[in-house]
Amino acid sequence: MTILVTGGAGYIGSHAAVELLNNGYDIVLLDNLSNSQIESINRIKELTGKDFPFYPIDLLNRGELETLFAKYDFKAVMHFAGLKAVGESVEIPLNYYHNNITGTINLCEVMAKYEVKKLVFSSSATVYGNPERVPIDESFPLSATNPYGRTKLMIEEILRDLYVSDSTWRIALLRYFNPIGAHESGRIGENPNGIPNNLMPYISQVAIGKREMLSVFGNDYETHDGTGVRDFIHVVDLVRGHLKALQYLENNEGIETFNLGTGTGYSVLDLINTFQSVTSQKIPYQFVERRAGDIGICFANPEKADKVLGWKAEKNLEEMCRDTWNWQRNNPNGYETSNDILLHEI
Ligand code: NAD
Ligand code: UDP
Repeated sequence: MTILVTGGAGYIGSHAAVELLNNGYDIVLLDNLSNSQIESINRIKELTGKDFPFYPIDLLNRGELETLFAKYDFKAVMHFAGLKAVGESVEIPLNYYHNNITGTINLCEVMAKYEVKKLVFSSSATVYGNPERVPIDESFPLSATNPYGRTKLMIEEILRDLYVSDSTWRIALLRYFNPIGAHESGRIGENPNGIPNNLMPYISQVAIGKREMLSVFGNDYETHDGTGVRDFIHVVDLVRGHLKALQYLENNEGIETFNLGTGTGYSVLDLINTFQSVTSQKIPYQFVERRAGDIGICFANPEKADKVLGWKAEKNLEEMCRDTWNWQRNNPNGYETSNDILLHEI
């Protein structure tokens, strides 16, 4: 059974690829490498001992997408490809709308044409906007506070409309909370471009000496220590949820939404402290103003995924910190090899 993985060279897609291959699926990977390195593909092959085709295709290139669907008999698509930086999305909103939304529409049109109608989509807890209370369940009202979040919200709505128009589609909308960590081998992991926006990659770059000090955005939230609280989830747990969703779509019709989180909130200081004690690395930090647009507390009610998919997160915060550090320490500069050199070899 062949699964198309869009965005498969990226952080979450590469972990999903490993999990799919280790569970006996055949995969084809697609990525335009706008935010990833082709070296991650080599690492996936090395980790699994399996080969698979990789296509450096852009979802905006409908012609190339069609060629791919004509060539392979895909059974389903895991759709990770998209731009994801909140701050950048405020600066260049049209790029975000075009890339994420047009890319997804192209993908769905080609899927429909080739009768591939099972889709697992990477949504985000950002679609809950500023929730009134926690834990957040799937029935909470939806809103967006920035263009990135709006692309996720709009894509969810587009996919719901698509299902209404044609009930042979089977779609899982997976709302991720805060994925961190890395494969326990330390061979694949998160490889941010430039200065990290997210907390965990920033912490690990401070630990490796690439950044001097972490700025903690706000210590006056209504949380146990005043710093923001999030539902951090190990990326390997997260991708296992995708395999459960895929199995669910094999047996069930419809469009369903699932939170993928642990159900436990930890603060920024909790994460810093755990990281320090697990890795014995000192993380200097200073408190600064709140970051514009941030919410105080966000964590999931993950019961629906447990009940319906039979999935729950298993890895704890210590394991998330250990695996992040293992990846960072072994790859201080991420996937160093340039795309240009490796693309030449394809
Ligand atoms: P990532 O940037 O590491 O991976 C996304 C991949 O998509 C990249 O390799 C990029 O090159 C590729 N891509 C982007 N636009 C493309 C296009 N038009 N055609 C082909 N490839 C394209 O990001 P990630 O953290 O792995 O996130 C994967 C998905 O999960 C994204 O849709 C993201 O919005 C969503 N998500 C991520 C998080 C998170 O914290 N990492 C949280 C919630 C949701
Ligand atoms: N955060 C921080 N310093 C940073 C990056 C993030 O204090 O350099 C805080 C942020 O304010 C939030 C938490 O860490 O409370 C998680 O932020 P991240 O950007 O990782 O995820 P998101 O805000 O999207 O949930």
